[in-house]
Amino acid sequence: MMMTIKTSARTQLLDITSDVGKQIRNEGMDNGICMIYVPHTTAAVTINESADPSVKDDIQMVLDKLIPWEDGYRHMEGNSAAHVKTTLVGSSELVAIENGQMVLGTWQGIFFCEFDGPRTRKIHLRFL
Ligand code: ZN
Repeated sequence: MMMTIKTSARTQLLDITSDVGKQIRNEGMDNGICMIYVPHTTAAVTINESADPSVKDDIQMVLDKLIPWEDGYRHMEGNSAAHVKTTLVGSSELVAIENGQMVLGTWQGIFFCEFDGPRTRKIHLRFL
């Protein structure tokens, strides 16, 4: 199945854990794996701390420092930084499902990573 989300800033990490959990319940899967796949070249998905929202802000800050928006890039569209961040963070995650629940650590959440927003984005979920 596919979810659609709207982002509201150029760079934004959105906690999608509860949205993914809802789809897993809709699917009725008790045990297996959920693949979360982002079909974009300037957006990604990652798993990290969701308990303290400062962590996602720090991740954004460090990515912005490492990969500045302007840096003599060759790509004419002008969004090379977003492409590079996407490659570093990655386009997919796998989460185990046990007894209908995602197997996540106490502090873990799933984040959709927008690197060239705001845009409407797709997230594909596959249940294995
Ligand atoms: Zn581009």
